[in-house]
Amino acid sequence: MLGQTSDIKSSKKLALVTGASRGIGKGIAETLIAKGYKVVGTATSESGCASLRKDLQALGGEHDAFVLDISDSDQVKSAIADFLANHGTPFVVVNNAGITRDNLFMRMKDEEWLDVLNTNLSGVYRVCKSLIKPLIKARAGRIINISSIVGTTGNAGQVNYSAAKAGLEGLTRSLAQEIASRNITVNAIAPGFIATDMTDGLPENQKEAILASIPMKRMGTTNEIAGSVAFLASDDAAYITGQTIHVNGGMNMG
Ligand code: NAP
Repeated sequence: MLGQTSDIKSSKKLALVTGASRGIGKGIAETLIAKGYKVVGTATSESGCASLRKDLQALGGEHDAFVLDISDSDQVKSAIADFLANHGTPFVVVNNAGITRDNLFMRMKDEEWLDVLNTNLSGVYRVCKSLIKPLIKARAGRIINISSIVGTTGNAGQVNYSAAKAGLEGLTRSLAQEIASRNITVNAIAPGFIATDMTDGLPENQKEAILASIPMKRMGTTNEIAGSVAFLASDDAAYITGQTIHVNGGMNMG
């Protein structure tokens, strides 16, 4: 409660959420708005941005959206430069955008490997790189990277995705060490299976097998991930850095 009260009084209330047009990112954006943040979200298309902007502003406040493709270095540099010019330096940066290109390793195409690494790992590098100077100058910030349970456990059919998420957790720990003295924390959240477009696409038999392996016997909700993001962004989490928080209904307790 105390943490929340001081959050609301804080001037550090700007949050950037990548991939906020759908799923977990949308849930994070809505939760941060409910906590009093001004949220700027991203989508990969102009139409996605227009509807995201409308949805966020309907919650009250001057929230915004812009087109960001984290797989494209030049686009990230110019889009983040425009974001900084328009909105200033964010206090909270949520690297949520991500993709899957599942296939068994024997059949995995180079393109499937490269696309996932380029988006889910290099994409986060690009966003952080474009924001690091202003964040260090501000001497305040919370970088929150959305990883996955499979970065720890691995998963058949996801060699590309689990490698990218394991890499993201390594990035999280190393960057956390570099910028802790600047009052910037860097943490990851590793969701288990969450009901979104990403998991909707799984074959029915795979979904059943997944549900059977979750002690809580259900998929998580986007709000259950968003709550952990809000905690890491709050004053209550000021001394937590370099950590990965697992939110998975007990699927991996290691
Ligand atoms: P989702 O419903 O498929 O949404 C993906 C989001 O990422 C969309 O907003 C999409 O934008 C955006 N995006 C895709 N490619 C992008 C790119 N190149 N540049 C910028 N944005 C891009 O996914 P989700 O299930 O919410 O997953 C969100 C994050 O949680 C991902 O990092 C995912 O790996 C992680 N995660 C999900 C689960 C799960 O069970 N769902 C579990 C563990 C981890 P458009 O709408 O414009 O396409």
